[in-house]
Amino acid sequence: MEQQCGSVIRGMMTTRKSVSSPTHSNQKRTMFVSLKNGLSDLVAALVHRLTDQGVTLKGGCAVDALRVRSHQLGRWMYDVILTDASALSVDSLVLATPAYVSAELVRPLTPTAGRLLEIIPYASTATIAMAYPRAAVSGAAEGFGFVVPRAEGRDLIAATWTSLKWPHRAPPDQLLVRCYVGGVGREAILQLDDQALVARVRAELASMCGVTAAPWFVEVNRWMRAMPQYTLGHLERLNQIEAALSRYGGLILTGAGYRGVGIPDCIRDGAVAAERVMRYLSGERS
Ligand SMILES: Cc1cc2nc3c(=O)[nH]c(=O)nc-3n(C[C@H](O)[C@H](O)[C@H](O)COP(=O)(O)OP(=O)(O)OC[C@H]3O[C@@H](n4cnc5c(N)ncnc54)[C@H](O)[C@@H]3O)c2cc1C
Repeated sequence: MEQQCGSVIRGMMTTRKSVSSPTHSNQKRTMFVSLKNGLSDLVAALVHRLTDQGVTLKGGCAVDALRVRSHQLGRWMYDVILTDASALSVDSLVLATPAYVSAELVRPLTPTAGRLLEIIPYASTATIAMAYPRAAVSGAAEGFGFVVPRAEGRDLIAATWTSLKWPHRAPPDQLLVRCYVGGVGREAILQLDDQALVARVRAELASMCGVTAAPWFVEVNRWMRAMPQYTLGHLERLNQIEAALSRYGGLILTGAGYRGVGIPDCIRDGAVAAERVMRYLSGERS
């Protein structure tokens, strides 16, 4: 987007113009899409579809370690050791864990991949959702939200007027805002407890938008090491990781740490991983 349009903001404005112009059916479309009842619907739908197809899902425990055994010529058997002390033996394995977790799992197989995976940095953020009586904040909220430039030196990095973006997210007499703090180089604020975090964010909204009313509802969520950062040389390191893992056929990495952070990127990469598993199991190289 940056290369095509000169800047990310200009690119978003161009995209917005093209998607928000009336379509052939004369319906306006928005560049913002979400699921009506929240993103947990995506997980619920996936679980439903898999269980319907007879897939067994095992939740409530983590993968503790990974062992590999030679199975037949050029083939491996992966033993997945779980934190409930049980183990699964599988012909093919997709690691959709964050890169720093996958690093520990593959390290005994290939220290090179372990080292390269562990250096993919992840940033932490917190979101503070607050609902206000709409009358108390009328005039303060414009557009869908705002991003605060780093040069401003503020605690708040961005805010979304969630119920203006998606009206069904709050009753008509309320305004729901989601504020973001933390991010690369600004993670110290996450040491604060919830009460102090909310106080900081409310002070920011007061000084930037004049919102001084007390929120009716507040929810703080912390997203620790949840946002992978693609630093210079990322693609080259990915190639080296793939090369280091190449002797372990059927062992595949996917997730936000590699080829795209957004949910659509993760879905696309997950589909590619599934195709690679199918090819491997049917006898082709993955
Ligand atoms: C605050 C925030 C806002 C965002 N907003 C947007 C947005 O508006 N649009 C968008 O497209 N994207 C957004 N993203 C990015 C997107 O949500 C993520 O990049 C994406 O969901 C990551 O998916 P994932 O499956 O790779 O990782 P995760 O969802 O982190 O999944 C990794 C999984 O691995 C599990 N795990 C960890 N260790 C183990 C272990 N040892 N054994 C077994 N399992 C383990 C974890 O429990 C977790 O379920 C946002 C991200 C954040 C943090």
